[in-house]
Amino acid sequence: MKAEVDREGCIECGLCASTCPEVFRMGDDGPAEAYVDEVPESVIDSAIEAQDGCPVAVIKVE
Ligand code: SF4
Repeated sequence: MKAEVDREGCIECGLCASTCPEVFRMGDDGPAEAYVDEVPESVIDSAIEAQDGCPVAVIKVE
């Protein structure tokens, strides 16, 4: 599975980075980013939780 953040729409709330730090982090320039190529099996559930919890729905995990 891949994870992607549409960084332009990110409001920098930090939720994804705290829900699934294995995949998401806050970028040096502000908005969040997905920093792994492939979402590890073990954290797929929390990556999806981050996707579903993003207040502006700019995360795609698929
Ligand atoms: S949850 Fe959404 S809005 Fe919040 S930091 Fe992550 S990508 Fe940005």
